Amino acid sequence: MTEIIQEGAGRRTHIRSPLMRESLMDRHVLTATDQQPVLPILPDVHVVHIGGASILDRGKAAIVPLLDEIVRCRQKYKILLGVGGGARMRHTYHIALDLGIPTGGLAMVAGAVNEQNRYMVQALLAKHGGVVLHKDHYVVLPLWLASGMIPILSGMPPYHYWEPPTGVQRIPHYREDFGLFMVSEVLGAASMIFVKDENGLYTADPKRHPEARFIPTITAQEILASDFPDLIIDRSVLESMVHARNTRRIQIINGLKPELLARALAGEPVGTVITAPPVEKESVNAP
Ligand code: ADP
Ligand code: MG
Repeated sequence: MTEIIQEGAGRRTHIRSPLMRESLMDRHVLTATDQQPVLPILPDVHVVHIGGASILDRGKAAIVPLLDEIVRCRQKYKILLGVGGGARMRHTYHIALDLGIPTGGLAMVAGAVNEQNRYMVQALLAKHGGVVLHKDHYVVLPLWLASGMIPILSGMPPYHYWEPPTGVQRIPHYREDFGLFMVSEVLGAASMIFVKDENGLYTADPKRHPEARFIPTITAQEILASDFPDLIIDRSVLESMVHARNTRRIQIINGLKPELLARALAGEPVGTVITAPPVEKESVNAP
């Protein structure tokens, strides 16, 4: 029950709660906010992200068989589909960087290409229940999913002008892989599958280094601690996975082999599985 307390000469008002009188900067107060298990909002939904450069930019030959497989899998699994930007987004970054536009400005324009791709994928899936998902529609997702639809969302997270500045790079740190990972994390999804054009993670980019070795399983912590020259997934996903409450397992699969999707949805390791084993309760009391 809400209890109002007034105190002090200036009659400061509090509402009784464990956070009462606290600054929200105090480390002990912050630790105390992590008492309840996190609620999985839609635990039976599977989040599938289609890479922009790796799959969508390849056009019909790559997209159509993959979407056919998604439609087949949709009969058994509830699927949220994300789409990336790809080459046109990279070109946009290139022009904006040349013009000296700051990171927040790049984040502002980057998502437009995802939106184009989202409309194209929606057009292809419309007759199978493909619908464009905007942020405001999350509250009706249970209805859409129960009626067999395939919501399609833009991967780019809406940080826009508020994209934090980064150290060595100028392009946004939080990009499409991260956007979809966060959707999986907040919904407490059953699985998070990234669909790219390689079998998964290798020791280096296999397109440039044919000698690179395939890595079937690895932890996010191991990747972050290693010196990978290049990655198949945004680093920000791995950085967040180690703090995740729900999504501590992701899988990267090869979308040029669409038959792998059903197996990945069933939980089978068919690409690279990245996990983030929980450590001892993360402490905010470090000096
Ligand atoms: P998308 O934009 O579609 O998400 P990206 O181009 O960002 O795809 O990432 C996928 C690409 O990453 C692959 O096509 C692959 O060539 C490349 N890549 C870079 N480093 C690696 C690595 N260590 N292992 C596997 N693929 C890698
Ligand atoms: Mg990418």
